Amino acid sequence: MNPFAPARDFLDLTLQGLSPAHAQWQTPALQAHWLGHGLLELTPHAANLQQEHILLSTGVHGNETAPIEILNSIVGDLLSGALPLACRILVVLGNIPAMQSGKRFVDYDMNRLFDGAHAKQPEAQEARRAVELEQAASAFFAVTPATTPRRHYDLHTAIRGSVFERFAIYPFIHDRAHNREQLAWLLGADVDTVLLHSKPAATYSYYTSERCGADAFTLELGKARPFGQNDLSRFAGIDRALRELLAGQCAVAANPDISAVRLFKAKYDIVKHSGDFVLHLADDVENFTALPHGMTIAEDVEVRYVADGGEERILFPNPKVGIGLRAGIVIEPATLD
Ligand SMILES: [Zn+2]
Repeated sequence: MNPFAPARDFLDLTLQGLSPAHAQWQTPALQAHWLGHGLLELTPHAANLQQEHILLSTGVHGNETAPIEILNSIVGDLLSGALPLACRILVVLGNIPAMQSGKRFVDYDMNRLFDGAHAKQPEAQEARRAVELEQAASAFFAVTPATTPRRHYDLHTAIRGSVFERFAIYPFIHDRAHNREQLAWLLGADVDTVLLHSKPAATYSYYTSERCGADAFTLELGKARPFGQNDLSRFAGIDRALRELLAGQCAVAANPDISAVRLFKAKYDIVKHSGDFVLHLADDVENFTALPHGMTIAEDVEVRYVADGGEERILFPNPKVGIGLRAGIVIEPATLD
């Protein structure tokens, strides 16, 4: 029986704005609970209390379709029994109106609206959804036993190409230590480049990291393309790693070798202070492009950003942002403490 009829599957149902006939149902392997549009909690009947609780989110940017299709396919296989489920999970499809219209967002970039930032954009429909997604995450982890690991992977694809095709953003974790087992898991998912963020951010992964105590990551898994136009073979690593994780078949050694992880940290933000702001990089410059020593990266009325040392790289360059906002991040190599 298809619980999502008359739609084909979870994604179809969500895109059509429908709800399943019943909010809760069972399969031989698991209990499913539809918590709201694009919010599906799955709990195995034979749950091991020590198995991690995992939040998987995607579509926070509506046009980043490949991870949406991957997650939808995983949900289908869990519900059909084709893929066993060993741990409690919450699957989140973030910005549904933006997904319906094939856009990054409708009113405001949702991944700038978490951890309370939604209060500053009360008119944006994304602000209301960010509140719902915060509440869904908090409620999900509120029943997680204190000793059970909490994970959150927020799956994205990027606007532009990247010198390092797949990368993770590790939110700023204040006084906590970086989790080496998680970096090893990312390596196994073919995500070999990690940016260690150095300050709080209004992203979904910062929210769950800081407010829910999760090991949380924003994963950039390739380039954004419309539904149906993705080469899903380029996403095989994350697909396989997620399936093994959910099935309880993922074994990461304690104190693993993570020397193959390329680590960076944010050095400073390039800020657009005025309408005279000029970014001296090509429109299609890729993320992680190296910035030769002495190069003028950007100029504004009273500021000149000059590359220093030869090891810096550019991340998320975007001269079209509003005045006062970040037009790019200058990053540099990092090591774990
Ligand atoms: Zn995104």
